[in-house]
Amino acid sequence: MQLRAAKEPLRLVELPVPSPGRGEVLIRVSVCAVCRTDLHIVNGELTEPKLPLVIGHMIVGRVEAAGEGAQRFAAGDRIGVPWLGYVDETCRFCRRGLENLCVNARFTGYHLDGGYAEFCVADERFCFALPDGYDDLHAAPLLCAGLIGYRALRLAGDAERVGLYGFGDSAHIIAQVAHYQGRRVFAFTSPGDTKKQQFARSLGAEWAGDSTIAPPEPLDAALIFAPVGALVPAALKALDPGGIVVCAGIHMSDIPSFSYDLLWMERQIRSVANLTRRDGEALLEIAPKVPVRTEVHAYPLAEANTALDDLAHGRFDGAAVLLTICLDEQPSNADRRDRRWRLDPRRRGRGHHLLRRLRRLVAAEAGAQLTGAVQLGIHQPGRKRWSGHLDG
Ligand SMILES: [Zn+2]
Ligand SMILES: [Zn+2]
Repeated sequence: MQLRAAKEPLRLVELPVPSPGRGEVLIRVSVCAVCRTDLHIVNGELTEPKLPLVIGHMIVGRVEAAGEGAQRFAAGDRIGVPWLGYVDETCRFCRRGLENLCVNARFTGYHLDGGYAEFCVADERFCFALPDGYDDLHAAPLLCAGLIGYRALRLAGDAERVGLYGFGDSAHIIAQVAHYQGRRVFAFTSPGDTKKQQFARSLGAEWAGDSTIAPPEPLDAALIFAPVGALVPAALKALDPGGIVVCAGIHMSDIPSFSYDLLWMERQIRSVANLTRRDGEALLEIAPKVPVRTEVHAYPLAEANTALDDLAHGRFDGAAVLLTICLDEQPSNADRRDRRWRLDPRRRGRGHHLLRRLRRLVAAEAGAQLTGAVQLGIHQPGRKRWSGHLDG
């Protein structure tokens, strides 16, 4: 799926299989999770993408071939590719262990073609081995939602009472990690989103409520995942003296001005930029211990535009993940009339057949053992949306 210009939908195109350069591996992509950053790139809020571009930076796949000098992985190894795609290892930031700030950094699915594709290449130094116990679908969201969230949590220091603003893909992972570390989690959602609040409580949040109201007690840290600048003063208001607001997104609307009183008493505001490989290794080590359960909503690769639109409008819990499968069947009229339904073994008909087929493809493509619940969305252009659920 290719982006030709900002503010245009991604287009399904045939591209040649890329060949791995020096130190790179060719990866057959199994799945790629969808990040809010992808949405910012498509919307033109991030202004320096390579064009045309294949977006996507939470890639899980298998090594197909290695370029010259690449020795870290063997053919067939399952690996993950994150946002950080290249650093020079020599600039003033790299030398201080801040490779996330590298002046020559290149990012997957932004400066480099990414994972909304059947194949991609990646510099082997920035790929991760993935923990067993996660099938491809459920591992993919760890690779950015998890990593950036983990870095944000790490920068909150030893904060005990942690507020999470915006309960999407990152927060649903980090709530579990924070809870595991013995911290107390407070989740903030859009006003009135009781479904997300319930979801947050099910993942270890001791309190969940609207972002417009004060938590039952002051927070030691507030991690903001929603791209909404107005949340910064709101989160500052919720902080105890000495507390910190960490803005975890790559883009945010303007922050409204606020009284110095909100910052006084050594409260801090900071951002999180990108990730280091150490962050990645740390999160991938802790995730199976928690164990972090990721909630995924799967789409065929060709439905990437629908996945992005659903993300923009908050239509699912957890993370959207694209599967590199192709559906060669069309639903019947009767199936199209059903807007939403559950996969029911008593049900006959073509829609059911299609979802069963999709389930088989998911299992085959994702190498699954499916664990946890997966939602499948199928969208026929210009037609009604269908979705189904399957339990692993
Ligand atoms: Zn991301
Ligand atoms: Zn550097």
